[in-house]
Amino acid sequence: MHEPIEKTNEHLSGVKCVVTSCYYNAQGNYCSAEEIEIQHPDARETQETDCATFIKS
Ligand code: SF4
Repeated sequence: MHEPIEKTNEHLSGVKCVVTSCYYNAQGNYCSAEEIEIQHPDARETQETDCATFIKS
C-alpha cells in the first residue's frame, strides 16, 4: 500500500495538467501533487498514457 501523495501549495514544475476533476489539480492547469506517476509501460499512443496519481476531487 502506497502512502498517499501529499497535496502541496506549489505547482509541479514543468507539468501542465488539464484534468480539473482531479483532487491535485490547481487553477491554471497546474498539478499540486508532491510527485506524479505516469502509466502505462505498453503505451503506443498518447491516449494510452495516463496519470496514475489521479484521485477524483
Ligand atoms: S495528479 Fe495527475 S491528473 Fe491530477 S492534477 Fe496532477 S498530473 Fe493532473
